[in-house]
Amino acid sequence: MKANYPFLNLLDSNKPYLDELKQAACRVIDSGRYIGGEEVERFEQQLAALTNVPHAVGVANGLDALRLILTAYIQLGKLYPGDKVIVPANTYIATFLSISQAGLIPVPIDVDKSSMNIDTSLLESIVVKSNARALVTVHLYGRVAWDEVMVDVATHHNLIVIEDNAQALGARSSVKGLYGTIPTGSLGHAAAFSFYPTKNIGALGDAGAVTTHDPELASAVRALANYGSDYRYHNIYKGYNSRLDPIQAAMLRVKLKHIDIENGGRFDRAVAYCNNITTPDVILPAISSTPDDNVWHQFVIQVAPDKRDIYRNNLRAAGVETDIHYPTPAHLQPCYKDELKSYNLPVAEHLAQSIISLPIGPGTSTLDVVAISKIIDRIIR
Ligand SMILES: *Cc1c(COP(=O)(O)O)cnc(C)c1O
Repeated sequence: MKANYPFLNLLDSNKPYLDELKQAACRVIDSGRYIGGEEVERFEQQLAALTNVPHAVGVANGLDALRLILTAYIQLGKLYPGDKVIVPANTYIATFLSISQAGLIPVPIDVDKSSMNIDTSLLESIVVKSNARALVTVHLYGRVAWDEVMVDVATHHNLIVIEDNAQALGARSSVKGLYGTIPTGSLGHAAAFSFYPTKNIGALGDAGAVTTHDPELASAVRALANYGSDYRYHNIYKGYNSRLDPIQAAMLRVKLKHIDIENGGRFDRAVAYCNNITTPDVILPAISSTPDDNVWHQFVIQVAPDKRDIYRNNLRAAGVETDIHYPTPAHLQPCYKDELKSYNLPVAEHLAQSIISLPIGPGTSTLDVVAISKIIDRIIR
């Protein structure tokens, strides 16, 4: 049965931009320039301006963006193979994989039940105990994961701070970053972006980017993403091929202009859910008074873990498609079980069993949200 309220329809998401996207694709096809070039450069300038940083480097995807940042810090002598990197237990597995693939060791930290992001009250003791050299903060579900405690601990212990900004493009922090700026992607030393098609701004294929205030890091990432080459046929690193495709850069130049409208729609739908879901058996995500600190990549509710799957089935039968982000925390995945089994991360483990993501993408209207909320009130009780 086709759901009345699909979780996300990517064709719907791109409907307002289809003509412009087709023109932009033709522009690249007709240009004869299929690697790098003006589309990529102009996209990088647009992203740097939006993020309020001096440097942006387009890369192939979000996982590579993270891995290239970490590898660049190793090449620059600021991290060493085997160094520990703190990472929230509630994130997409890519955050963990990037650390492992760079030859570093992930140290998971538990999350706060309300924000579902890093519980910074645990940070200092974990840094001391693990002797971690870096922290990846993940703005999960679009909510900024940045506060005074994080800034203090990072400064005091000289941590390299990397933002995983895959889910929070266009968000702004109420606490200033290490360079005095507020957009996510400008808060720490470097940031990774994903433009996977389901993100708030999605390409029409894989795409990613790195932003930073540090010109040396930007150059190292750029070289690493292009065979380790700083100029033609001169290789300073044993690099990778992880360049941003110019067709995707052209798609993103069209869509990036509309980030505030896209995020505004998500905020409206989040407010509508919070105003219309009244059942006491749902824990709603917190809405803060400063709307910029969450760009609502996902709208994630919490329910009783023993009933979560029944609720989802009943919602599905009533035409509401939902999802789980994410059903298994990284440290419990088969690939990490042996390495990370000694960690005790009760909040992340509890969330994995009690969360449900509701439709909040561009194809869901606020009227849909009101209707979905009524169905939720009827089913989750
Ligand atoms: C999507 C995502 C990534 C990975 O991005 P890809 O472009 O799919 O490689 C990394 N971290 C988080 C939090 C994500 O949501």
